[in-house]
Amino acid sequence: MQVFTVENIPLIKEGDDIASIICENTTIEDNDIVVIASTIVAKAEGRMFRLEDIIPGERALSIASMHDLDARFIQAVLDRSKEVLVDYPIFLVETHNGHVCIKAGIDESNVDIGYLADLPSNPDGSTAQIGESIELITGKKISVILTDTNGRAFKIGQTGIAIGVYKIHPIKNWKGQKDLFGNTLEITEEAIADEIAGAANLLMGEGDGGYPVIIIRGLEMRSEESSIQEMYRSDREDIIKKGLRCLSK
Ligand code: GDP
Ligand code: MN
Ligand code: MN
Repeated sequence: MQVFTVENIPLIKEGDDIASIICENTTIEDNDIVVIASTIVAKAEGRMFRLEDIIPGERALSIASMHDLDARFIQAVLDRSKEVLVDYPIFLVETHNGHVCIKAGIDESNVDIGYLADLPSNPDGSTAQIGESIELITGKKISVILTDTNGRAFKIGQTGIAIGVYKIHPIKNWKGQKDLFGNTLEITEEAIADEIAGAANLLMGEGDGGYPVIIIRGLEMRSEESSIQEMYRSDREDIIKKGLRCLSK
């Protein structure tokens, strides 16, 4: 497996064609996995906004006062959330798309001063659009993973995770396969999209590296169908969410 950066990606602005920019700056081969930081997709889609344009409601004012945060920012997070799972001391929400993260994934870093960047509202849709376009330009069959930086519930430190997929199952099911001793695996589901996102994030970094696109070559993981929803536990099965709801009552 090879993991490498795409050099010379410019600062992305609204309207930029990410697929063309990638193809102009690297060569693509069949089965490549193109990993893209959601920040640049948000910028290309014009998903930037300013606090000046937001009027906070009562709930935003109340949560903001607990955190000493700008109530307009809290309102922006609420607008993008299906549910607030924890309001304090962290502000953990589930986005309309089913992704659980701090502050709805709104970013202040690597965006123009004074602006905030949203996550793409339909991450699989954005990912597919870029993937189809790269395939059209290059004639190659590829997969794409859209990433963001996320914390984990039980460990310190953030890591790259997948928020959108194109032509790769985010989960690899090992159930029914054998271990070294012939025992049948009964529960193991490997979160390959997150693992690949983590590997790519090692080269992206979180600061001024300027590497929002990483190519992974040598893994044969392309699939015809794919949806990030394969990774999200149903509400019924998610005991952590149930626990958090109990706590906030
Ligand atoms: P996120 O994880 O999607 O929120 O994105 P980050 O802010 O962590 O950035 C990931 C990588 O992309 C870092 O190497 C940044 O320097 C880089 N990056 C972010 N925006 C741009 C951009 O517009 N152009 C280029 N070339 N790199 C960018
Ligand atoms: Mn981010
Ligand atoms: Mn990041």
